[in-house]
Amino acid sequence: MPELITEAIVLRRTDYRDADRIIALFSPDHGRLDVMARGVRKPSARLKAACEPFATGTFHIQTAGGRAALIGFTLSEGFFPLRRSYERLTQASYALGACLSAAQPGKPSPELFSLLQLTLARLAYTEQPGENLLVRFLLSFAAYEGLAPSLDACAICGKAVNAGPIRFSSDEGGVCHASCAPFGVPLSAGALEYLRGARHGLDAEADDDAPNTADGLRVMRGFIEANLGGRIKAGELL
Ligand SMILES: [Zn+2]
Repeated sequence: MPELITEAIVLRRTDYRDADRIIALFSPDHGRLDVMARGVRKPSARLKAACEPFATGTFHIQTAGGRAALIGFTLSEGFFPLRRSYERLTQASYALGACLSAAQPGKPSPELFSLLQLTLARLAYTEQPGENLLVRFLLSFAAYEGLAPSLDACAICGKAVNAGPIRFSSDEGGVCHASCAPFGVPLSAGALEYLRGARHGLDAEADDDAPNTADGLRVMRGFIEANLGGRIKAGELL
């Protein structure tokens, strides 16, 4: 039977029957793969580690008749320190949830895979504030998915947004003058400056004061969830 060997990360696991699990994998080369892992809930199961959310490594998958079954796994990274902080675990799960909403079977996404790995590594192994990491992840994620929010020009009138009261409208696609979108979410000039810097990656210069990152996270979560058609349920992944 044909065998697929690929690097991937576990985005979600779902119990199936008495002792099985179905794992949703995200592979940089193959996009989303849903794979049956038989017998992995038995205490002595050899492939138990292949079914933990965040587990990254080389998966050996047997494919036949449109079905995929896990037959081997080598762990390269489990991001275990994430489990020490509920807050960081929730932020990491949110990043997984975003990828689960975006990953499609057969669609290679090496950039998004690398971004996810780097974000999880920072959350697990550094002291970098988690909110800041998640905002930066979501900005790059949106750009890769072709839904980057407008942060320079007003999403309604197209003119530059600099001075004066600012709003953010997920429906309109980004920042707006308060006069153009009075019902948008108010956004401070500092938070907008922060978002403009943070969109250039995890290490780009940005004014990441805590109030700015909190505001930035609030609008980016709303924006991503509006665009992906529903809330990303981080809690379900744990
Ligand atoms: Zn405007």
